[in-house]
Amino acid sequence: MRGCRRGAAATSCVDFRPRLCRPVTKKKNTSGEIREAALETLAQLPPADVTAYTDGSVLDPRRMRRGGGGYTLTDAKGKQFSGKCAAGARCNSYRAELSAMLLCLRDLLSGAKKHAVPQDAVITVALDSQSAIKALAAGPAAQSGRLEIRVWEALSEVCARFRARVIVQYVPGHVDVEEQEEVDKVAKAAAAECAQGDGPIALSLAKAAIKEVQRGELVASLRNKVSDHFWLAVTGGKPAKCDKLSREEQRTLAQLRAGHSPLTLDYLYRVATTSKNFKIPDDGDHGMSIAEGVVDAVRDGSPAHEAGVLPGWRPTHIGGKKCATDGELAAQLVVAQGDRCAVKFKTVPSPKCPACPAKQDGVRHLLAECPGYAKTRHSVFGTHNVPLSVLRDQQKEVLRYLQRIGRWRPKDSRVRGARQTGTHTGIHTRSAGDRRGSVQHSGTSSPAAAVGKIGRHIAPLGIPRSPWSCIWGLPVFAPWIPISGGQTVAA
Ligand SMILES: [Zn+2]
Repeated sequence: MRGCRRGAAATSCVDFRPRLCRPVTKKKNTSGEIREAALETLAQLPPADVTAYTDGSVLDPRRMRRGGGGYTLTDAKGKQFSGKCAAGARCNSYRAELSAMLLCLRDLLSGAKKHAVPQDAVITVALDSQSAIKALAAGPAAQSGRLEIRVWEALSEVCARFRARVIVQYVPGHVDVEEQEEVDKVAKAAAAECAQGDGPIALSLAKAAIKEVQRGELVASLRNKVSDHFWLAVTGGKPAKCDKLSREEQRTLAQLRAGHSPLTLDYLYRVATTSKNFKIPDDGDHGMSIAEGVVDAVRDGSPAHEAGVLPGWRPTHIGGKKCATDGELAAQLVVAQGDRCAVKFKTVPSPKCPACPAKQDGVRHLLAECPGYAKTRHSVFGTHNVPLSVLRDQQKEVLRYLQRIGRWRPKDSRVRGARQTGTHTGIHTRSAGDRRGSVQHSGTSSPAAAVGKIGRHIAPLGIPRSPWSCIWGLPVFAPWIPISGGQTVAA
């Protein structure tokens, strides 16, 4: 890339080379291979009179604090020089790199260090920032940043004064190129030692600084105010130990720790909705029989059946109007006759715990409170009094508990299980393929399809509906074969 659009000042041009002679990446190549490519690239450059390496460094890159830049330079007589400068109290690596380059060029121009630079010199500037090289390569007219403009001014003046040709070459950092390592040390020292002063801050950095302050305040306020937050109650603010869990297992546990898990019906009730468009004929026969606000049955061939409405769904909006009570629902269905109207359903009919008479299912209820699962809880955790911190400290036991009560099964075993359970009737015994073969009893109940459709996590599993059915949840043949009797929700 050549950038010489700045009239007479940059008649001798600047050559920007943001790549090596052959493509190498840190992902695909070893650092030895990258180093080789870098050295090969440097060997292919035209012989230089002056060679400079520049580098920028940021002391605290995450918070973008304290930048510094440095350079090392070998002049035409082989004499070595170096220099360092502050790059800003708020700084990112890009700005630190440009500051280093600017310092190097200005030192060449000022002559204070008495560098030997002949006329018609070839000057090589090597740095490890492709983004900086690419930004400069767009040309002086394309620059909007103050720093970039100053670098371009310095480049033009170097070209003009020494009638020089400047080659700006990318050399990857941290691959054991000797000069690069050396200048890296200079830059790090600059970031640590140089006094920053009150230089202007770039707008983007100022924004980032404001964000950081706000984030800090938010974190501080959260620490004091929401100590009763579910996640904090579960984890105490510490990350959960991950003892060789699959991604699926980790995700399941993370959802539970957050209190938003599709394994609990309160969550599904909140999020699982669907809209169906169907025409209600003039006689008002839409084909759904509704009991207690929930679709009880759908007649074959009726408009509702054709639209794919399933039993167990609860209509909440008809034609965009909310129907909170059964009366409203019936009235809306009459009004909507003859129209092609959209009916919105909650596809999980109720947030109630399926295993006990509790009004609301939930993570806390599921793990620590539900009387329906008390025996399984005791056999897995050894106590009825299970603290929520098991989600952090006893992750494998939690997963075992969830499998034993039939709320969760790992995906791969679910596929195998589905193949083997076949017709879904009666009791299945353990087989080789189904390691934890959850034994199911098929329900004839219609809400089955409803949960099956949305709660894929639940679908193949039997959710006992009465508190008593959990008694049958006890292991009979072997500890890992739960038998669930009674009615189940899943199809
Ligand atoms: Zn319960």
